[in-house]
Amino acid sequence: MSDCLFCKIVAKEIPAEIVHETGRTLAFRDVNPQAPTHVLVVPKQHHPDAAALARADDGLADDVLKTAHAVAVHEGVAEGGYRVVFNTGPGAGQTVFHVHAHVLGGRPLTWPPG
Ligand code: AMP
Repeated sequence: MSDCLFCKIVAKEIPAEIVHETGRTLAFRDVNPQAPTHVLVVPKQHHPDAAALARADDGLADDVLKTAHAVAVHEGVAEGGYRVVFNTGPGAGQTVFHVHAHVLGGRPLTWPPG
């Protein structure tokens, strides 16, 4: 989508610190990190939120989760523990409507989140 921030990052029209890339996913550091590791994983194909990603019946959600785990391993947080979050909808704090998994780790993560 032409007016989507994360589509522009996928297209490399807007710079981002990319940490992992596959044929169908891209992972880049969040500009406002909430933990020592805070990486966003997006499908390259535009879907507005996790509900839409769940309806994509071609294994794309699986690819996003696999990339999230690959990022956690690469960042060295997989063994200690990490969190994967999809804020879904404005009531959950979603602000960018291109689905993204937040991969958070590198510090103790309290539960429940705010
Ligand atoms: P959410 O509130 O769940 O939609 O998450 C959106 C995330 O995108 C926030 O954590 C922002 O800090 C992050 N963000 C916004 N713009 C950029 C950008 N240009 N590059 C990387 N992360 C961004």
